[in-house]
Amino acid sequence: MDSGKIYTALAAVSAVTIYYFYARWTAPDKLKLAVLQASAPNDATKRTYQSLIGALPRRVFTPHDGEFLKALKLYFASQAQHVLPAFIVRPTSMEEVATAVRIMGKAITAAQPGEVQFAVRSGGHSAIPGAAGVEGGILIDLSLLNSVIVAKNSKTVDVQPGVRWKDVYRTLDAHGLSCAGGRACDVGVGGLILGGNNFAIVTKYTLHTFQQAKLWTGHIYHWPSSTPSLLESYYHFSRPENYDPCATVIFAIGYFGLLNLHVPAPSVHYTNPVKNPPALQWLTKAPHFHSTLKIRTMSEATHTVNSASAMTGLRWHFTTTTFENNLDMTLSAHAAYRTGSSKVRHVSGVCFAIVFQPLVPSATKYHDNNSLGIDTDKTLTVVLISVYWKRAIDDEKVYAASEETIRTIESEAKAMGVYHPYKYANYASKGQEVLEGYGAERVRMLREVAKKYDPSGVFGKRSMPGGFKLQ
Ligand SMILES: Cc1cc2nc3c(=O)[nH]c(=O)nc-3n(C[C@H](O)[C@H](O)[C@H](O)COP(=O)(O)OP(=O)(O)OC[C@H]3O[C@@H](n4cnc5c(N)ncnc54)[C@H](O)[C@@H]3O)c2cc1C
Repeated sequence: MDSGKIYTALAAVSAVTIYYFYARWTAPDKLKLAVLQASAPNDATKRTYQSLIGALPRRVFTPHDGEFLKALKLYFASQAQHVLPAFIVRPTSMEEVATAVRIMGKAITAAQPGEVQFAVRSGGHSAIPGAAGVEGGILIDLSLLNSVIVAKNSKTVDVQPGVRWKDVYRTLDAHGLSCAGGRACDVGVGGLILGGNNFAIVTKYTLHTFQQAKLWTGHIYHWPSSTPSLLESYYHFSRPENYDPCATVIFAIGYFGLLNLHVPAPSVHYTNPVKNPPALQWLTKAPHFHSTLKIRTMSEATHTVNSASAMTGLRWHFTTTTFENNLDMTLSAHAAYRTGSSKVRHVSGVCFAIVFQPLVPSATKYHDNNSLGIDTDKTLTVVLISVYWKRAIDDEKVYAASEETIRTIESEAKAMGVYHPYKYANYASKGQEVLEGYGAERVRMLREVAKKYDPSGVFGKRSMPGGFKLQ
């Protein structure tokens, strides 16, 4: 590389880094003030508080307790932090969760519909305000349920919902094992596995483990001009006949408004300790100005993802759709992203990203059955529009640009005959048809399960309004 290019590369890396910190450190923190000004809860909620504090002293907190603000700050997105509950319950055992649920169940049944409301939170990474929080209601915060126990035979690991993925991987790394989970280390186990909260409060997950050596992982930052040819290579890489099951790419392109710059920054993973394997050379051979690719443990890999893309306390929005892997459609989705990003150019601290992720048949057919409605021999492309920005005043502009981008992608996918109704719950925005995407028959079955185990609808939308609800 000549010295001119080196200087440009250094300038681009520094600009993106400064941009991250600028957005983070100048984010307004009005949370404390908002907590002090929150309006008083209704009488039925106050009575429920009295019962909870009687049964669980030292576990229930009001806005006057320091623990209340500490717990609120565990939410990832600023919008989620500002959904203010009246009280927060922080159980430390399964028995304490059961006590809280019994008390709330009684209170909900005795009150008018919707009068007593509650929410459940694990890692607090849902970007939908109110999915894991409730204004004026009772928040059950599971973040203190945080044990990770590997089974004696090493075949499974028991994980509590408040655990972050970094703790799961760090524990398993020490045994030469891993499990399927999140790729950013701070994301919670509870919400990622469930994708919602329809049936109960889950206090333990038993996950299958597998042998795992170190991985070759990291990010590559390409020159913007490479984007069309990289997307073409992504399409070929994701085709079932070409797919190397050890390789995956989470293909993100981010638009930094202040710099007016689009940066393709694929997150790259190879699940063996092999540097630059053939399946991923389309990325390493393309012109790029920075790479963090290295052989790492799984927990190190998830730290890398976190520090490259996940900043707590900013405003965030996720929205998603899915189409069958198709080159024209991939290019068309990219064009829709370019249009969408141009609409938020002047939003303070904005980064507007499109992320393409392959869902290959070897993964979707790994088990005989799933409740998600994915039944195809084709690779699906899950598209995520992920945006962060600084100020509440810009919320509507960002939501409109993101949702319009998704609507454009969906209508073009339908026109090309490659639309797929699956929407990944953990990427979906409020109002997207997540359950409908599973298919009518599966939704009917899930509704029957919900009715059987929760006949009075305690976990239904009237008393637990956040999330994609079955009843
Ligand atoms: C920076 C970042 C990186 C991400 N990376 C990934 C990734 O690599 N892979 C991926 O699949 N997703 C990823 N996501 C999406 C992530 O899966 C969702 O945000 C998920 O909801 C996070 O789980 P949580 O426990 O932190 O969520 P929470 O916000 O605590 O919960 C989400 C939902 O689940 C419900 N819930 C949580 N715990 C329980 C429980 N124990 N019982 C009943 N209901 C419960 C809540 O009520 C809420 O409706 C990422 C998100 C962010 C912001």
